[in-house]
Amino acid sequence: MKALVKEKSAKGLVIKDVPVPEPGDDEVLIRIRAAGICGTDVHIYDWDEWSQNRIHPPLITGHELVGEVAALGKSVHGIDIGQRVSAEGHIACGQCEFCRTGQAHICRDVEIIGVDRNGCFAEYLSIDAGNLWPVPDAIPDHIASIFDPVGNAMHTVMAEPVAGKSVLVTGAGAIGLFAVAIARSAGASGIVVIEPNDYRRESARNAGADIVLSPSDDNLDEIILDYTYGLGPQVLLEMSGHPGAIKTGLHLLRNGGCACVLGIPSKPIDNLEWAKDIVFKGITIKAINGRRMYDTWFQTQNFMLREQEPINNLITHRLPFEQFERGFDLLHNGDAIKIVLEMM
Ligand code: NAD
Ligand code: ZN
Repeated sequence: MKALVKEKSAKGLVIKDVPVPEPGDDEVLIRIRAAGICGTDVHIYDWDEWSQNRIHPPLITGHELVGEVAALGKSVHGIDIGQRVSAEGHIACGQCEFCRTGQAHICRDVEIIGVDRNGCFAEYLSIDAGNLWPVPDAIPDHIASIFDPVGNAMHTVMAEPVAGKSVLVTGAGAIGLFAVAIARSAGASGIVVIEPNDYRRESARNAGADIVLSPSDDNLDEIILDYTYGLGPQVLLEMSGHPGAIKTGLHLLRNGGCACVLGIPSKPIDNLEWAKDIVFKGITIKAINGRRMYDTWFQTQNFMLREQEPINNLITHRLPFEQFERGFDLLHNGDAIKIVLEMM
């Protein structure tokens, strides 16, 4: 089969012919129909510091997928050949304290497809049957392929009630923009977005943000405080991982507010105003990892069934698998939001 492979410890990815994986007893073979390119795939493509420490080539990349079941392992029941599915790419161990207490998203021994083991930028993927997510016919392939990042956004927004509240979103990458659309749908009363990239700021407006600012705006604090009657936003959705955005977000957050933090800084953050911006204000910080298995998937599916338009608008490119280089170029230049590679 054809697969997009990180072949060597160096920049880039190549399409290679590799054997079709053999599903284990508890696994299912999926014929991939479409796969989303995630920021993580861009890190792996670039071979940055994080990937050098985490990735062991050769590795088939990719973890956002939709496909159809092509073969079943011996012990798998209740799934039909041909069934259209997405899949949770975090393979939890099922044994640890967290897995056994409904918190598989923070499993101690998690393995991620396309990161720790072969992923879905390929014609076929073999994955644990328990990770499959059957997809209703009403959700088209290109949307079903991005359950994973829409799920990250859903998990973050659902961590704290936003209805009737003012919400600050820092970072309007794909996940931040999905979060804007979800927060709008969940009844947020006012959404402020901070994002440096012009194109993404424009996308934030289209996704339903009320006020869109750049971190370089002189009177940023003043505008946001003014908009929130001098008190600051009630909920912060931190979707950038940028140290400056994290500090600004915590600084502006209202007393007693809640910060739901998804973004991942590349190194420890210096000079956090721990006492002033966190302790004395009595805020709550909720850290978000992955998607809850499977509450987040049900919520994401309901959103995808009812509100395809906003998601559709954020899928800026659908490219044939072979044009992956173009996809990575577009993402490097910030000229795309979500890109889906189509296999068939
Ligand atoms: P992305 O890189 O596309 O989006 C980040 C956005 O933040 C970009 O648009 C960038 O321009 C913007 N940004 C940079 N500096 C900023 C600043 N000072 N203020 C405001 N915005 C700023 O990434 P993404 O794929 O949308 O993911 C968002 C974040 O979530 C990333 O940090 C990613 O690593 C992280 N992530 C976390 C999880 C998890 O499970 N916790 C899962 C997926 C992604
Ligand atoms: Zn576990």
